[in-house]
Amino acid sequence: MKSKPSPARSRKPDRDTAPLLQQVREVYAELATRPLRGNCTGRTTCCRFQLTGKTPYLTRGEAMIAAQAWRASGRKQMPASADGACPFLKQGLCQIYESRPFGCRTHFCEAAGGQTPRALVRDLIQRLEDIDLALGGEGASQFHAAIKPFL
Ligand code: SF4
Repeated sequence: MKSKPSPARSRKPDRDTAPLLQQVREVYAELATRPLRGNCTGRTTCCRFQLTGKTPYLTRGEAMIAAQAWRASGRKQMPASADGACPFLKQGLCQIYESRPFGCRTHFCEAAGGQTPRALVRDLIQRLEDIDLALGGEGASQFHAAIKPFL
């Protein structure tokens, strides 16, 4: 007998997402209150994926929030990036800064203090992963692949 797929593993959210996305924002807010050594000064080095060889991975809630912010500005497509930088980086500025993903907040930019040690934010990562499951996600995925379904 075929078993019914788990709702938590289906590709589409099967419940109202607003409270879950609010939980993601609360994770971002809590991160901002922690005394971590990172200090982003907007150099955008970490936004240049091809240059650094590192691309953030996003959980579903993070991706949905980033896509919402992009759509809120009236844009619907993920723009192409000729230089391999983040598609949301325009004229040296992040176009979704307030809604940027967790990885952009705990980045590896040496100028900003280097990557946040995982041990200091493990609980927040766990919360994002729990929210991901509740939204029907399957774990974090690469930046473009994570966001594209929501644009
Ligand atoms: S979302 Fe914003 S902060 Fe994150 S990589 Fe893209 S431009 Fe940079």
